[in-house]
Amino acid sequence: MEAYPSGDDPRAGVARALRARALFRAGGRDDEAMAELTALRPLLLTQPDAPAYLSAALDAGGRSPIAETWLSEAVETLLGERAPAADPEVGPPDAPGVLFLLLQQRHRVRRELNLPHDRQDDLADRLENQLVRRAAERQGADSDLLLWRRDEFDRLLAEHAELTDVYGPDWDAHRARLEKALVRLAGAGRTGLGVFAATVAGLDAFARSRNGDPSDPEIRAGYAAEVSARPGARVPWPPERNDACWCGSGLKYKKDCLPRSRS
Ligand SMILES: [Zn+2]
Repeated sequence: MEAYPSGDDPRAGVARALRARALFRAGGRDDEAMAELTALRPLLLTQPDAPAYLSAALDAGGRSPIAETWLSEAVETLLGERAPAADPEVGPPDAPGVLFLLLQQRHRVRRELNLPHDRQDDLADRLENQLVRRAAERQGADSDLLLWRRDEFDRLLAEHAELTDVYGPDWDAHRARLEKALVRLAGAGRTGLGVFAATVAGLDAFARSRNGDPSDPEIRAGYAAEVSARPGARVPWPPERNDACWCGSGLKYKKDCLPRSRS
C-alpha cells in the first residue's frame, strides 16, 4: 500500500479522494476506492479540509454510514484529549479548528442519514453559534469603531449625507456612539480596544477599488477592516482620565468623551 500523504499538503488528499470517487463511479472497483479513502483516514485528525472531502467521497460511493463512523471516532479521539467539562475551543471565524469541522460534517452526514440528534450534534450546534456570533462581533465591532475626526466628519456628511443615519447627525453624537460601543465591548470582556481614524478620501478610494459605494455597509466594513489592519492604526481606548481624549479634540478624556457614555 502507498503511504498516505503528509498533513502538510491538502491537495494530495483531495486528489486521492477524487480518484476514489472516480473508482466508485467506474463500478466494480469499490475495494480500490475504499483502500484510497482508508489510507487518508488518519488525516481526519489533523487536516482541516479532510472531514469535508473524505465524507463527500464516501457519500458519493454510497458509504455515508462509514463516513458517520469515521467522523464520530475522530471526534471521540480529539475530545478524549481534552478536559471533558468545558466546550472545546472553536478557533477563529476565518480558521475554525479540525474538531469543529469534524463535528460539522458529522452533523450533516447524520442529518442525511436521519439519525437522531445526539450530544455531539448539540456540541456542533453550540460551537457553530459561537463561531457565527464571533464573526458578527468582529465585523460589527470593526465597522462600528471607525473614528471620523472633526474635519473628516464634516466632510463625510457634506459628501455622503446618507451616512448621517450610520455615524450620527453631528460630531458629538458620533463620539457618544463610539464611547458607548467601547464601554459595551469592554463590559463584554473585550480587551485591546481602540478606534481607527478614517478619512473620506480613504473611504472613497476603497469604494472605487471595489467598484462599490460608501453607502454600502459591506464597503464600509471592508474599509474598516483595511484601516484597522494597518500597523499602528489603533488609537487605544480608554486613555487615562487626565490624558488627551481618544477623539482628537485636545481636551482631557474625563472632560470630553468619558461622560458621553452616560448621556
Ligand atoms: Zn473626546
